[in-house]
Formats: sequence, structure tokens, C-alpha cells
Amino acid sequence: MRATRAIIHLDRLTRNIQAVRNRIGPGRLMCLPVKADAYGHGAVWVARTALAAGVRYLAIATVQEGALLRKADIDAPLLLLSVPLPEEFSELIAHNLIPLVTDRELAAGLSEEAAQMERRLPVHLKIDTGMGRIGPAADSAADLAVFINNQPSLEYAGTATHLAASDSTVEDDIRYTKEQLARFRGAVETIRQAGVNPGIVHAANSGAVLLHEDAWFDMVRPGIMIYGYSPVAAGAVGAQGAGESLTGTNSGTMIESLEPVMELTSRIVYLKKVHQGETVSYGRTWTAPTDTWIATIPVGYGDGLPRRLGGCYSVRIRDNFYPLAGRICMDQCMVNLGLETDIQRWEPVTVFGGSGYSAADIAEALDTIPYEITCNISKRVPRVYMGTVRE
Ligand SMILES: *Cc1c(COP(=O)(O)O)cnc(C)c1O
Repeated sequence: MRATRAIIHLDRLTRNIQAVRNRIGPGRLMCLPVKADAYGHGAVWVARTALAAGVRYLAIATVQEGALLRKADIDAPLLLLSVPLPEEFSELIAHNLIPLVTDRELAAGLSEEAAQMERRLPVHLKIDTGMGRIGPAADSAADLAVFINNQPSLEYAGTATHLAASDSTVEDDIRYTKEQLARFRGAVETIRQAGVNPGIVHAANSGAVLLHEDAWFDMVRPGIMIYGYSPVAAGAVGAQGAGESLTGTNSGTMIESLEPVMELTSRIVYLKKVHQGETVSYGRTWTAPTDTWIATIPVGYGDGLPRRLGGCYSVRIRDNFYPLAGRICMDQCMVNLGLETDIQRWEPVTVFGGSGYSAADIAEALDTIPYEITCNISKRVPRVYMGTVRE
């Protein structure tokens, strides 16, 4: 196996799940989004570990992602979060995925296909309470609920919405989230009044698990926090105490307890001394300020290490951090070890994966979010699974 690999710490995943379980109490269901290959961690092993740790539902974005899990003998309920094409209905039904239904055309089409296949398909209604993405507005949700409920081959099994700014501690965003939740509660009430059982009611992503207890309902759908990153800036919660006042439980402590599941490691494959004034990598953007040792690491933007990190990131070797020297190449990058070093060729390097040097720190350096960093670790990087799946 090549030097560069993503170690997936399944024991950390299990502990993150247990932390959410402790927070939401024993009575609620947990749904883990494993879309985009479990945010880059590997959907099959993440799914198995999560199910063993008490997660009951999984969520995916495409029919293909669902098919892959079914092929791996995962028989848990799979929520399909994005809208499928009509051409995909039969495969969706064959794999018993649970689509989020957003309109009559989708409901009728799915019901017709399910009837032809002599199946009854469970579906959830997705309401747009302010995300502006998919689903009917709250005031027309009950109409659609009745329509779905009347489809002979659909089973109305749940009601969902998605929050646009649940991870924010800015006052205006908090107000917006409360508004979304009020609309959602109102819509669920009108569905009940129309004589339809709303089934499993769910809304909370990670932000809402951390900050909005009134979004937890029957099931929560946290993703990023299970993979070990907080969508809420840790400082924001601690500094203002906003988390405490919003949820009555300590969000700051919870954020600190999350453990990054992915660790990107590699090895030094080449070591050389460069002289003062010599340049390293493309474009000659880095010039050695003194004589210095340069290590070459076989990881680059072709592996998903963002090219823009060149010049603003350090990797860990033993217990110290060493800055990248020059531009990140497609398959390799260089690290400055300094004038004197006893570091040897072939030694291990951690690119990210611990406290203070996780995908969240990379994201911060690049003004993006950790989701994007782990999702983009490419298929070329083998995933190595550590820690056991506990039954
Ligand atoms: C991705 C997704 C989630 C999980 O969001 P996180 O921010 O990762 O917790 C929940 N619900 C829906 C509909 C999603 O698409």
C-alpha cells in the first residue's frame, strides 16, 4: 500500500455517536448522513459502525449511494435526501430507499412505479421552512401530506425540514432558526389536523443538535459532528455562552469532546539539504532563507490536499510541526525541516487528524468548512479502518 493513507478511527466515530446519544437522551432516533461516501470516510464501514453504535437510520444523497450500501448487505432504513430522476424510481424502489417527497408529481410518479412493482414505498414529506432548497412551503405542506397519504402505493412515514443557519450564534440567525422551527411545528400540526399521522418528525442537523434543543423532535440527523468536527465556531459558544442559553446544556464541552475520525498520514520519501537562495517547487515561490533540510512527502492536490494550503500550513512529524515549502504539486509536496534535524527518510508524517491540526484547521486556513476538506480526499487515498465495530 502506498505511503499516503487516510486512517479512519472507527472507535472515535463510536464515541462521537455516544456523545450525541447522551445529549439527546435515549428516546430519540438517530439518522447518520453517509452521503458523499460518508463525508469521505467510507460509507460502508461508517454505516456498519454507526448501526452497531445504535444509529437506526442512514441518509444518502443519490440512489447509487443507496445501492452501494444495499450491496454491502446493510438493511437499515435509508433516507434519500436529494430529488431522484423519474428514470431512477424503479431502482430506488428495488433498493427500498425512503425518498423525501417534495411535490405531487414526485409522489404520484413514485406511487405509480411502486404499484407496477407491487411494492408499498415508505416516504417522508420534506417541507421548506426557510432553507430555500427543496419542498413545499409550510402553508401548503398539509395539502401535499393528504395527497401522499392518498397514494395507494406510498406509506406516509415521516415529516422533515432542514435548517439553514442552525450552526450560527449570531442573534439574527438564531431568530431565523426559531422561525423555521415555528413554521415546521405549525405545518406538522396542520398535517395532524388534516387527519394524517406525520410519522417520524425530524429537523436537526449538527448545528441544531448543539444549539437548538427544540429542533430534536423524534429523530436527529447530525453528520459533521459525528465525523468529529463542530459546525459551530468553538469560540462563539464559549465566549458568549450562547450555546448554554439556547439549549440549557453545555455546547462548549460537547464541541471539545468531539474527536476527528479521519487522520491523513504519509511518509518522508526523500530528504535533501538545500542551500540558502535555492528555490523549491513550481513557480519558484519559495526560496531557502538559510541552508536547510527539505523533506518530500508523496501527497498533493491529486489526493485532495488543497493546493492553496501551500505557504499556510504545517504538517506533524514526531511531536513537532514543520511548514510546507513552496507550492503543493499534484502528487507531492515539500516540507522545511530546518538547518539541523535528526529526522530520517521514511519517517511517518501526519498531514491532519488531531486536535489543533484537523481538517477543521485546514478549513479555517482556507476560509472553507471541514466538510469540503474530508469529502475531497480523493479515491486514490486508501482508507484504513482502525478500531472495532462493537455490537
Ligand atoms: C447533510 C445533511 C444533514 C447533516 O448536516 P450536518 O451539518 O453535517 O450535521 C442533515 N440533513 C440534511 C437534509 C442534509 O442534507
